[in-house]
Amino acid sequence: MRSLDTQSSCADDNEQGTLTVESALQRMLEDISEKIASEHVHLTDAIDRTLAQSITSPINVPSHRNSAVDGYAIIQADLPADGDISILSIVGKVVAGHPYEGDLQQGECIQIMTGAQMPDAADTVIMQEHIEVHDNTIHIDARHSPGQNVRQAGEDIQQDQRVLQAGIKLTPPQIGLIASLGISEVCVKTPLVAAVFSTGDEVLSLGEAPRKGCIYDSNRYSLISALKKLGCQVLDMGIIADDPDKLRNAFQLASKNANIIFTSGGVSVGEADYTKKILAETGSINFWKVAMKPGRPVAFGQVGDATFFGLPGNPVAVMVTFYQFALPCLQKMMGLTSPLVAPIIKAKCTHSIRKIAGRTEFQRGILSKRNDGEWEVCTTGQQGSGILRSMSDANAFITLEHNRPSIKEGEWVSAQPFSSLF
Ligand code: AMP
Ligand code: MG
Repeated sequence: MRSLDTQSSCADDNEQGTLTVESALQRMLEDISEKIASEHVHLTDAIDRTLAQSITSPINVPSHRNSAVDGYAIIQADLPADGDISILSIVGKVVAGHPYEGDLQQGECIQIMTGAQMPDAADTVIMQEHIEVHDNTIHIDARHSPGQNVRQAGEDIQQDQRVLQAGIKLTPPQIGLIASLGISEVCVKTPLVAAVFSTGDEVLSLGEAPRKGCIYDSNRYSLISALKKLGCQVLDMGIIADDPDKLRNAFQLASKNANIIFTSGGVSVGEADYTKKILAETGSINFWKVAMKPGRPVAFGQVGDATFFGLPGNPVAVMVTFYQFALPCLQKMMGLTSPLVAPIIKAKCTHSIRKIAGRTEFQRGILSKRNDGEWEVCTTGQQGSGILRSMSDANAFITLEHNRPSIKEGEWVSAQPFSSLF
């Protein structure tokens, strides 16, 4: 049989010499480092930022002993023996924010509200629902225990205790916790600056009139929004035509002004040589064939001081490579020591999927919970890497592992919900 000695392409099912998804990611992660710069911001601007300095509490929380319920503060010696009733006279009332100044003696009680400071001698609070009030006295039975319903000073956090470790992405409860310590400013990592541009003579900017043989740029918009969502500052560099001088200038400008550069297009077999030549002058870039679908060609490396991700041109491939490769790298650069792990859900595939062992596939799926509590997933129809609807209609990646052959209906597959990625 006659055959041609052709080059490999992203349509090939399998090929020697490609990197697995795991090894490509590992190489990228080894190559990048955390960004050092940090700044102080007010607590109200700190949500989702990476904490750059650990937080130690300057105070006890709570700062004073206080009541956990609305009720009556008493001295535990006044609790009745089994079967008895104690009668205590009400000598005052204390509300939150207004400590009781007088003395409390045995045989007496003070009405107390939740959060109010405990009077010095008192050590136990009886809930108001558990007493009877008669004239100016309360009647207590024997169901109570000494010390109940009192929050001790420092019970939540002790002075000088380390409460938050540097390297976390601040969440609403953590912001509340910092506020509870009386701290109004925190030291966080400065945002990463990401330069984004699209390449290709066929790519049109929004606002341009449609032209024959051209398409509107979608990659720049999905990338910019993904980056903004991660808290990056974005330098939108528009569309750069397939022209060596313009590309060279764009890379130089981007590397001077950004920590990280994202491009889409220009890394496939047909165009890689061209991009390679330009980048060889300004940086060190690897053009990888990754055993994955979509997203097989990816360029990664360094341009000047900036990290470079050359993502494929096809819109779905851009999203897949961004979330599988760029996201973990960005998290490392942002200094996140415990990056959010995207959980994998085991789901039953509602139909068969054709696949060849030897590459990881990221099909786009709709994940749902069945009435019996099990998860099931189906693909969003046509899975071409240029069909962005396959991604916008989906709520999860169906990750078909490297060595896995075709999937039969009803087989378990791994689904990665988008809600854990973006
Ligand atoms: P390339 O990798 O440059 O050969 O592009 C692969 C495919 O993706 C081609 O069909 C391009 O037209 C398309 N493409 C490239 N850049 C973009 C973009 N910014 N927005 C939408 N599609 C694009
Ligand atoms: Mg192109």
